[in-house]
Amino acid sequence: MKYILALDQGTTSSRAIVFDRNGNIAGKAQQEFRQIYPAPGWVEHDPKDILGSQLGVIAEALVRAGASITDVEAMGITNQRETTLVWDAQTGKPICNAIVWQCRRTAGYCDELRQKGYDKLIYLKTGLVADAYFSATKIQWILQNVEGAASLAKSGRLRFGTVDTYLLYNLSGGKIYATDYTNAARTMLFNIHTLKWDDELLSLFGIPRSMLPEVYPSGYMYGSTLSTVLGKSIPVCSVAGDQQAALFCQLCLEKGQIKNTYGTGCFLLMNTGGEAVESKNGLITSLAAGLSERPDYVLEGSVFVGGAAVQWLRDELGLISSAAKSEEVALSVPSSQGVYVVPAFTGLGAPYWDAKARGAIVGLTRGSGRAHIVRAALEGIAYQVADIVRAMELDAGVRVNALRVDGGASANDFLLSFQADILNCNVLRPRVVESTALGAAYLAGLTCGMWEDIDELSSFNPVGRTFTPSISHDERQKLLKGWHAAVAAARGKA
Ligand code: ADP
Repeated sequence: MKYILALDQGTTSSRAIVFDRNGNIAGKAQQEFRQIYPAPGWVEHDPKDILGSQLGVIAEALVRAGASITDVEAMGITNQRETTLVWDAQTGKPICNAIVWQCRRTAGYCDELRQKGYDKLIYLKTGLVADAYFSATKIQWILQNVEGAASLAKSGRLRFGTVDTYLLYNLSGGKIYATDYTNAARTMLFNIHTLKWDDELLSLFGIPRSMLPEVYPSGYMYGSTLSTVLGKSIPVCSVAGDQQAALFCQLCLEKGQIKNTYGTGCFLLMNTGGEAVESKNGLITSLAAGLSERPDYVLEGSVFVGGAAVQWLRDELGLISSAAKSEEVALSVPSSQGVYVVPAFTGLGAPYWDAKARGAIVGLTRGSGRAHIVRAALEGIAYQVADIVRAMELDAGVRVNALRVDGGASANDFLLSFQADILNCNVLRPRVVESTALGAAYLAGLTCGMWEDIDELSSFNPVGRTFTPSISHDERQKLLKGWHAAVAAARGKA
């Protein structure tokens, strides 16, 4: 039996999953690692922790699969996007901690960029909004603030990488210095139309070209790991950012197909085919994972607080004892009785983009109780997702007829049936909701020839349950009207 090994390097943990020839999980292991908060709003990782935890879980996953490294045919990597590492090519050592995507240290500089009107140039070239989230301003910060960085950069010794690149570099003993289109597209330095690093943006941020890796399709033979690192040299046959790997896993390969991952936040991606759709609703335009030299484009929107609203019900309000309990409590009442929870704890993203909005519970009456609030909070996740789906439909000019879902909170049947009701479309949940790792495995397995084509993959992870809409048009309109009034209240505009 030959296996595909997927490395899934996330923001709070590193995971390794061994998949068999039929796409089944044969073994997996996960290790959390340290989050470093050096100042309010700043988030870092120690590169040693990223590498150590990721290498650490490989052996454990293989043992659980009853396999050894010699049984692994190929490897794939999927990773947290945008997180920025910079190292010295001569020593291989990072010159500072990784600056995590969540880190806001360059937010002030991004405000300046917008004031100077650079946001338009950035959007036209990269499809991104000018935000601290993306790698470019993080690299610039390192060059300007880490001692000796500027002169090392000048002499051509520094290397930048997102997490995938850093893993590839270390797994190959410095031989592979590369990334894929989906990770490159999140740096704010990559032109998604020409598929090249953009010289004008590099000079805007003062970043030398020598600091940037080669860029390849997500499914691609990147090279092989050093035999001393894992005990055998293994070909690395895929690299993809986590959300794009999930989109690939859900086989959203046609224009208009869309997936949502319900995790701490929610991440929606819509495949828009060969067309880079310009968003009028504050969505991001980016690249999809695939095997082609000419990747598809996607529209992406995210909900800042998704499953985190459920954690809030549990930890701050003490209304439920576990996240899973939210479903039972929500179903103990027939409706939320006009109560709305807008979980805008950190502002609202697309399509509102209101950083000043704050959370709100509206519509309370003397009869409102714990169950109504719990139910309204789950509904609040679904409404936010629906707002993004509508924005995507408007931008792409398509009507969505099915939403494919995954992620931890997609286990909640109430949430998904309400999602179907409010969207008026089917919601499809596959059997395996660990889509990021499986997506990386699909890409690697297709590249190394373990699987012939997409058709072969289509039976691997069938739909486990379909949720269909069951409310009337009038009922839906009434609920949505209430939701939009609640959003206005959260924005102080009631
Ligand atoms: P991440 O990858 O962002 O860490 P996961 O995909 O592991 O997230 O999902 C975890 C999130 O899902 C948490 O915010 C948790 O509150 C929520 N969650 C998990 N199970 C349920 C459930 N049954 N109902 C509602 N929310 C859930």
